[in-house]
Amino acid sequence: MSRGSIGLSPELNDYIVKAHAPEHPVLRKLRQSTGRMSMGDMQIAPEQGQFLAFLVRLTGARLTLEVGTFTGYSALAVALALPETGKVVACDVSEEWTAIARAHWEEAGVDKKITLRLAPALETLAALETEGEPGRFDFAFIDAHKPEYDAYYEACLRLVRVGGLVAFDNMLQGGDVADHGARGASVTAIRALNAKLARDDRVEAVLLPVGDGMTLARRVK
Ligand code: CA
Repeated sequence: MSRGSIGLSPELNDYIVKAHAPEHPVLRKLRQSTGRMSMGDMQIAPEQGQFLAFLVRLTGARLTLEVGTFTGYSALAVALALPETGKVVACDVSEEWTAIARAHWEEAGVDKKITLRLAPALETLAALETEGEPGRFDFAFIDAHKPEYDAYYEACLRLVRVGGLVAFDNMLQGGDVADHGARGASVTAIRALNAKLARDDRVEAVLLPVGDGMTLARRVK
C-alpha cells in the first residue's frame, strides 16, 4: 500500500523517486530486501523516508519516537538525519522483523542512536510518560496498528513538546477513507481520526497525499 504514492501513475511515481538525492546505500538494500517479503508493503515508500529525514532536519529534532518499526526503514531514515547526539525510541512487537532492522541500523553505523522497545506500543508509550519529562520528544512517527492510532496519538501528543510534530502514515487507507462502502476496522478508525484532527485545537494538522497519505500534526498547546 505504501511502496509508492497514492494516485500517481507508476511512471510519475518513479520520476518523483528519482528527483530526490540518491537513497543511502543501506536504506536501498533494506528497501529491496524487505520488498521481497510477503509483508513488504508495510514498508514506507522511499520518498516518504526522504520526507521524514527532511522534517527531522527542518525541525532540528534531537529526540524522536516511532510507533511501528517493522524492518526498520523509517527509523534508519530518521536516525541518519539526526545529529550525533540524537535518539530514536522505536516501538514494535516483532522480534523477527526488528532483527532485520537492527542488522541494518548497525551496518549504517546508527545503532547507538536507536533504542528498540519490544512490547505493545501503548504499554511503551505509557512507560515513557512515567520515565521522564512530559513533552520531551521533538518528533513522533505513527505507523502501527490502525485501530489504535487515536490512542497512539493521545499518548504521543503528551510526549511531544509544544511546537513538536506527530506524523501519521496510511491516513488515506488506499483511498478507502473516501469510499462510503468501506467499513473495515482500520478505515473506520482512520476516518474518525482524520475528522478529529480537523477540529482538534491542540494541533495544527495537514494531510498530504504522500505515500498512502501522511498527516503532520504540530502541537500548538
Ligand atoms: Ca505504513
